[in-house]
Amino acid sequence: MYPGATEFGFELLVCRWAETSWPPEASDGPESDAAVLVSRQLGTRRRRWDTIVVECDPAGLAARARFGERELDSDLLHVVRNAPEEWAWYRDALPHPGYPWRYVRAAVHRAAGRGVVEKRRRGNRIEIRRVAPYPDWVRRIVAIENKPDLDASAARALSEQLTRDVETALADEVWVATHATGRCVEPALLEDIPVDVGILAFSFDADAPGDGWADASVEWHPSEVTPADAERDEDRRTTRLELAERAYGAGWRSYHETMRPDCRHFELRRFGRALVPHCAAKARPQTAAECAGSCADFEPEPPVWRTDGWPIEGGPGKGLQALLHGRREWVRERTTDGEKRVD
Ligand code: SF4
Repeated sequence: MYPGATEFGFELLVCRWAETSWPPEASDGPESDAAVLVSRQLGTRRRRWDTIVVECDPAGLAARARFGERELDSDLLHVVRNAPEEWAWYRDALPHPGYPWRYVRAAVHRAAGRGVVEKRRRGNRIEIRRVAPYPDWVRRIVAIENKPDLDASAARALSEQLTRDVETALADEVWVATHATGRCVEPALLEDIPVDVGILAFSFDADAPGDGWADASVEWHPSEVTPADAERDEDRRTTRLELAERAYGAGWRSYHETMRPDCRHFELRRFGRALVPHCAAKARPQTAAECAGSCADFEPEPPVWRTDGWPIEGGPGKGLQALLHGRREWVRERTTDGEKRVD
């Protein structure tokens, strides 16, 4: 089973499994040296995926670190990717963005404030220079839709979305992750899922040692849906880069920014090799939606928890946030160093 038997709990475990074990056994998978970044609930304005796996060039990913741990949004990417090696007026250096230059100027100031380009004033002109070449670090993007209970109606609801995912081909590969039923033919195989979409069936055992806590079985292999002219499609490249940048900045533990670790009932519990949220008041894992200020059981940490040398500065809630934040940084660094399997 998985924490709380909810899609949220399932999703966190799938993310953790991907972080330690991607690619699934016997899939075509990334090139063997690929570094892997995992994020959740990311997408475009039109489509949001449950889990995103970014397969990265390790040297490129290491070079990306020069631009800081936060994501570069589309405006910053426009400046950083096109910043020249030598000082130049920003309007000479950057391609016309298709919107007024004053917005580019604002992005230049923001980029310089973050230290991702250099800027200086010459007369009434602002000149920029790059701090480093922006690397080509994204190899492939894989989208995973998590549906632990993939019955006929869930499959019908998903089918149209997945067909569109395959057709738009923003991701190179699309999977559905579901909970294994133990039947000789997983029901997901009998449902109306597009043939280009892979199916992964998961079973979890929180107490199994090592990597045995999560078993991912490939029930159906996906087709690579990357278009033939992908290299020449600049719009697709840019959108994917924006997506990858968001994954770089957010990771999958970003729930610590939206849930309420500052509630006295918020706990983190170990499940196999994952850390998942647990609510002491509800005596079960809570969902991301219910763990909010509007929760009827919400109680702020008592002030006394934040004093008298509590081992974690700022109280346990701050400590949990720092822990999740720290693990996100740590995973990024370890991944950058070429170590995929992380604790
Ligand atoms: S009581 Fe509500 S806000 Fe507090 S941890 Fe539980 S679900 Fe979250």
